Amino acid sequence: MRTLAFGYSTRCNIKCEHCVAADAIPKNIKMALNQAKKIIGQLAAAQVQGISFTAGEPLIYLNDIAELVGLCRDYDMYTRVVTNSFWAKSPELADSVVVQLKEQGLAQLRLSYSRWHQKNIPQQNILNAARSCHKNGLDYFISFVTDFSEQDDNFEHFLRQHNLKFFPEPVIFAGRAHDFTRLPLHTDYQANCCPMNPYLAPSLDMYACCDAGSHFTATNFFHLGNIKDTPPAQLFAESESNRLYNHIRNMGISTLASFAGFAAREIIQYRKCELCEKLFNSPERLRGLRQEENTGLNSWYR
Ligand code: SF4
Ligand code: SF4
Repeated sequence: MRTLAFGYSTRCNIKCEHCVAADAIPKNIKMALNQAKKIIGQLAAAQVQGISFTAGEPLIYLNDIAELVGLCRDYDMYTRVVTNSFWAKSPELADSVVVQLKEQGLAQLRLSYSRWHQKNIPQQNILNAARSCHKNGLDYFISFVTDFSEQDDNFEHFLRQHNLKFFPEPVIFAGRAHDFTRLPLHTDYQANCCPMNPYLAPSLDMYACCDAGSHFTATNFFHLGNIKDTPPAQLFAESESNRLYNHIRNMGISTLASFAGFAAREIIQYRKCELCEKLFNSPERLRGLRQEENTGLNSWYR
């Protein structure tokens, strides 16, 4: 199924210390609304079935996003908005936004939450937003970004205490979080297969990865092209047929790293996106993997 993270604007109203996007992209790029509408038509024609509005804080442009969500509904596309809940200052204000989006056909809100977000956004906003979704019949979940340190215990406790639906999500050590202290991992050696959701930036550049990979500037490994030059359907097709991307999806980052010569002991010390960066944001290593994408890597399956 084709889905896309849609970056309408990079603008955000807060500045989180862990933000992956912050240092790699120019500030405040925004699509024109008419252009975004045209692109959504192209995406529908490319059989895209789900769009997640993300990038900076989408709901700074609430009316535009509501209109785009309505357009997606007309094309029968699933929609999600990722937000920091700055707008949910009271139950009444939360209701007005949730109802507006729900009326346009929004399927889900994803509320970002962490000890970094909450330096700028009161926890009460998250509660107001989640309760409003529940009350107005809009699906939601809370994305609890954590580095698994004890400092996050109270933040997790708050979610449990209020019976909110949440999923822990590891902080990505890229962008502003690049130099954060890493705690040791206590988990198994895992394949780290990655589904790779593509990302469309406000510059109209499309990437095969919507997370750290869209900022691998040394190789531009995940850059698919710009939809001003190439229609989205073609960029999706390129993403789906790229041999190395398919190895990431099916074989996983750990197996690729092992193939590339990383010791098992070293592999377990990295988070998935960090290891991905080691492999694919190094021109030399990438060259080596490309040489093997149709040969050695094809027989590197169990
Ligand atoms: S709310 Fe999201 S986009 Fe804005 S600074 Fe924080 S992490 Fe970055
Ligand atoms: S593992 Fe690589 S492809 Fe997957 S989200 Fe991280 S950077 Fe992107």
